[in-house]
Amino acid sequence: MIAASDTRQNRVKYSVIVPMYNEEEVITHTYSRLTEVMQQTEETYELIFVNDGSHDRTLEVINQLKQQDAHVRVIDFSRNFGHQIAITAGMDYAEGDAIIVIDADLQDPPEVILQMIEKWQAGYEVVYAKREKRKGETLFKKWTAKLFYRVLRQMTNVEIPLDTGDFRLIDRKVAQVLRGLKEKNRFVRGLISWIGFRQTSVSYVREERFAGETKYPLKKMISFALDGITSFSYKPLKIASYIGFLVSLGGFVYLLVVIFQRLFTDTTETGWASIIAIILIFNGIILMLLGIIGEYIGRIYDESKDRPLYIVRSVDEKNELEDKRLL
Ligand code: UDP
Ligand code: MG
Repeated sequence: MIAASDTRQNRVKYSVIVPMYNEEEVITHTYSRLTEVMQQTEETYELIFVNDGSHDRTLEVINQLKQQDAHVRVIDFSRNFGHQIAITAGMDYAEGDAIIVIDADLQDPPEVILQMIEKWQAGYEVVYAKREKRKGETLFKKWTAKLFYRVLRQMTNVEIPLDTGDFRLIDRKVAQVLRGLKEKNRFVRGLISWIGFRQTSVSYVREERFAGETKYPLKKMISFALDGITSFSYKPLKIASYIGFLVSLGGFVYLLVVIFQRLFTDTTETGWASIIAIILIFNGIILMLLGIIGEYIGRIYDESKDRPLYIVRSVDEKNELEDKRLL
């Protein structure tokens, strides 16, 4: 069967998606490294830069590059919507037969793309890049990341590969399925694992950030981790019932002990300090569990509002560039 993509007139073979949030210092370098690599493929390609509401000169820099090079396309968000949504937008607009997602900061070496393409040509539909090592990141970041991937694996039924970020290549078919998944709190790498198809990995060493600093402060990291876990697992909700059951069981046994002491021994439990302590502990547990439930309800609320995932201020019309983009 001939895939629908084969009948498109202006075929782009590879789409590279680069999400950017305040990356003015790195973007020119990223552009040249990517261009160097993509030229080696000797195929048609487009570089889709998604400006995720940057406050610096990122957009100006990239627009300048666009003037000089017809491979460049720019999607400009009306505000900061977040990394995962920027990737999603890139995939929505990408026209290539294979779509590659890469960070703007050159932590993911563009050269690895060539290895991914080889695997894709060998018939794999998803090629993700597995971090063998992470250079130049704080111990805190490395440990929390490591812990996160392991907790996630324990919690979910979907096989989400360990130590892989969003640096990966996906086939057009996978992107098409992904477009149909409309959930709002997106954890893209989990969704891709969930979709299935033939998946494989290439290993690489994660480099230091080329310039600037991480755009994932602790707050964003926590909300990212919560999205990952709650989108793929009900286990936290179940933990609530387990803990509740154990606590009541403990309370009941303790009550029996107290009654026994009162009736059959001379010692009677006295003191209210212990009671307050116990009340505090259990109230704490109850609040925590309500919080977990709240996380899910919040997400149900998000889905039911059904707002658009992102708002684009401008995007390059595809025809404007078509003939130049073909080599
Ligand atoms: N990013 C984004 N929107 C955000 C935060 C980050 O588009 O709200 C982009 C950022 O520009 C980079 C990628 O997502 O290209 C990964 O971010 P970063 O390198 O800061 O994360 P880290 O590598 O430290 O986990
Ligand atoms: Mg980075």
